[in-house]
Amino acid sequence: MSKTKDALKDLIVETGRSMIQTGMTVGTWGNISVRDAETNYMYISPSGMDYMSIERRHVVVLDLETNVIDGEFEPSIEKNMHAAAYLARAGVNAVVHTHPIFSSVFGVVEMELPAVSEDFAQIVGDVVGLALPYELPGTPELGKAAAKGLGDKNAVILPRHGALSVGPDMDWALKVARVLEKNAQIYLNAKLLGEPKLFKREEIDAMQAFVKDHYGKKNRSLGDAADRKASQR
Ligand SMILES: [Zn+2]
Repeated sequence: MSKTKDALKDLIVETGRSMIQTGMTVGTWGNISVRDAETNYMYISPSGMDYMSIERRHVVVLDLETNVIDGEFEPSIEKNMHAAAYLARAGVNAVVHTHPIFSSVFGVVEMELPAVSEDFAQIVGDVVGLALPYELPGTPELGKAAAKGLGDKNAVILPRHGALSVGPDMDWALKVARVLEKNAQIYLNAKLLGEPKLFKREEIDAMQAFVKDHYGKKNRSLGDAADRKASQR
């Protein structure tokens, strides 16, 4: 018990509220977690609870095998998917799962989402892939498909379900979730006017290098050697 941290529980509470306030998710859909790099425990939102009602005592602390370390409430049904992201990526310390409209469209037709905005190119990459094959919510198989689809990117689209965004901290993972949805909306609107023009590979590389230089260690998931190594497992 003493190894768990109130500050990390509070981060889950505050992030959940901000997700509702910014329209990133509706009702009890979606789930969020943060990893304590010190203990390797993940702090995750409880299952089926309205984000505005979640308090510190509702946050569940699990190890990465999803054993409960602390908490009396049921952890999010997607605990396996969160754990899979942490196990696959050493540089990831926060995971945000949302059910966004525009990104989900790409999951319905099982089409990868290419970068059509600079912010997306900078913090997500050239393209976001899909977690395939389709797996049912809450299953360990969905976790495996999501980690595979994520690769070394910061987001993955879950077919006919939603999206998963990751980052070295909660701010970063939230930013990825917002930028992913914005990029999807821009792409779909661009399709109404014509054929979206995509970046060249070297342009993506230059933008990622710029962000890496500017944000340094904060943006570990784009260039951290340990993270790359873990993602290749
Ligand atoms: Zn979901």
